[in-house]
Amino acid sequence: MENLSAKHNLEGDYCNSLTRYSRFLTREVNIGDIALGGHNPIRIQSMTTTDTMNTLATVEQTIRMVESGCAYVRITAPSIKEAENLANIKKELRSRGYSVPLIADIHFTPNAAEMAARIVEKVRINPGNYADKKKFENIEYTQAAYDAELDRIYKKFIPLVKICKEYGTAMRIGTNHGSLSDRIMSHYGDTPRGMVESAMEFIRMCEDQNYYNLVISMKASNTQVMVQAYRLLVETMTKEGMNYPLHLGVTEAGDGEDGRIKSAVGIGTLLEDGLGDTIRVSLTEDPEFEAPVAKALADRYVQRSLKLAVESLKPPAKIQTLQAEAPTYSPYEYSRRITEPVQHIGGHHHPVVMVNVSKENLKDPYFLNTVGYSYSAGLDKYNMADQACDLVYLGDNLPSFSFPGNLKQVYNYKTWLGLQDKNNCHPLLSFDEFSKAEVKDEFLNFVQIDAVQADSLRADHVDETVVLVLETSAVHGMALQRSFFVALQQKNIQIPVIVKRSYENLDADKLMLYAATDLGALFTDGFGDGIWIDAPKQHLALINSTSFGILQATRTRISKTEYISCPSCGRTLFDLQETTQLIRSRTDHLKGIKIGIMGCIVNGPGEMADADYGYVGTGPDKITLYRGKEVVKKNVTTAYALDELIDIIKDDGNWVEKA
Ligand code: SF4
Repeated sequence: MENLSAKHNLEGDYCNSLTRYSRFLTREVNIGDIALGGHNPIRIQSMTTTDTMNTLATVEQTIRMVESGCAYVRITAPSIKEAENLANIKKELRSRGYSVPLIADIHFTPNAAEMAARIVEKVRINPGNYADKKKFENIEYTQAAYDAELDRIYKKFIPLVKICKEYGTAMRIGTNHGSLSDRIMSHYGDTPRGMVESAMEFIRMCEDQNYYNLVISMKASNTQVMVQAYRLLVETMTKEGMNYPLHLGVTEAGDGEDGRIKSAVGIGTLLEDGLGDTIRVSLTEDPEFEAPVAKALADRYVQRSLKLAVESLKPPAKIQTLQAEAPTYSPYEYSRRITEPVQHIGGHHHPVVMVNVSKENLKDPYFLNTVGYSYSAGLDKYNMADQACDLVYLGDNLPSFSFPGNLKQVYNYKTWLGLQDKNNCHPLLSFDEFSKAEVKDEFLNFVQIDAVQADSLRADHVDETVVLVLETSAVHGMALQRSFFVALQQKNIQIPVIVKRSYENLDADKLMLYAATDLGALFTDGFGDGIWIDAPKQHLALINSTSFGILQATRTRISKTEYISCPSCGRTLFDLQETTQLIRSRTDHLKGIKIGIMGCIVNGPGEMADADYGYVGTGPDKITLYRGKEVVKKNVTTAYALDELIDIIKDDGNWVEKA
């Protein structure tokens, strides 16, 4: 397997710039009369959840999706009869005045793809299962066997390419982390490189036929894998002189706040670096709820170049040079920045969560419920939840009650100086205050620094009691904060850093999405020992849960059960939303357990690669239960399936009773 641990030359490897916002220019691809890539806007799309044979329901859902902002609509075509029915759906849509380009979603069935390619504007194929073998066996392929298999696939795939050429139909080569073929797995393993090669083989076959109407995706439910795979794809395509447009998505992101945060972490991280031409946010919700989320993510970048042109804060030139000359981290492989811990912050400790409580009623301990500490007046004690924040910032305001013993309080320096009892209380100082301070905390000092100050920071400016609070108000702030981390690495300054972003006047949804993008992108690359989202006008509970949600989505701190639930589609064998809620209601206290909930097993047990347990539709009223990729119980009647799943978790010793 290829060694990716070597640090790469970062500037321009997978994006135009790591410091300036610059959209990566891709080839323009025509999909019906809505072009994708090139200088076109980032297009939004989604997928229907209706039975494709139900023409009316599919048409009506498609219209709702268009009204909610979808530029394209994807419809599943599991067999030739559904592929044929796409003609009726298209006809009905056109007769109602909707010219939305349609995309057929294909798995395993070349004949359905060949039919659909004559009807709709684009087909999506999965290279892991389009004519490739997927027996879920551990097969060793010799180079000769590997090449013979590729040759066999070529012969099966080329008829579709020829039809697409003839009809002007576009194609998405959509790789899924969970459905790599045995052949790819044998050579590359279950890795981002395997995902990239899986797509590259099909791209090369298309190019061999002079067919270039391609869009590429690299989806995974694990955001780190997904981000690394897209970056590697661009790097690989660039080396081979290709620039196909990118369809971005985190697959099986789940629902509600979790689904939104996870999607924003994966998709937003790539958008920040100028990657992405179309977005599909996959939520276990009705598809018309997906487009507004995708639009909120994409809209930030519409004006970003313009805003940057007039923004006076620019990354210091020296940071850019340093970064280009001596990169310190790999964007293709997760590795946490090495730090010396200060009082459980940094080192191997999970990232901490800090919230601003200075505007709360500091006479009332009950407000701490919202940040994970429920106060019992009778017992005069606090109970700590799994998502209990670690630090609270009080500014200059003093509480009139005792805080939980394990919750550190942070005060502005001058106020801290005046405190009678400094136990568990620590100062927040500006960089300037710290350098001049005669009295400092013996153990822990928080020093605020703006990301533009990277150049002026030297190792002898700080000591072993310092945790930096890294802020930015720059428009392209994530990149500036990332540059700061790179500068710290280059100067070998190993002090922990809490990453802070402040947001004014954002509604709850935007706060979640923007914070998950800005901060999630840093944690995805191993930067950050703590998170501080400052949004004075938003509820503390939302800020706290968003902070923990970002850490969970980046896999840097696990504080709850994770649901890897598919968005559902025309293949779905049960009500995904209802079932997900039901499973959640009985298992949401199982911190750290990942449960996959899939409407069908289209991609095989590989879909369970990222889950500890799986609940998968296998037929009408039939559920198959998994432990990892292993089938534990087949075809359980739906009414008993959740109880059986819980029994499996209990047998494994992973069950705890709800408090
Ligand atoms: S896993 Fe879900 S979204 Fe994927 S094909 Fe099956 S039902 Fe459709």
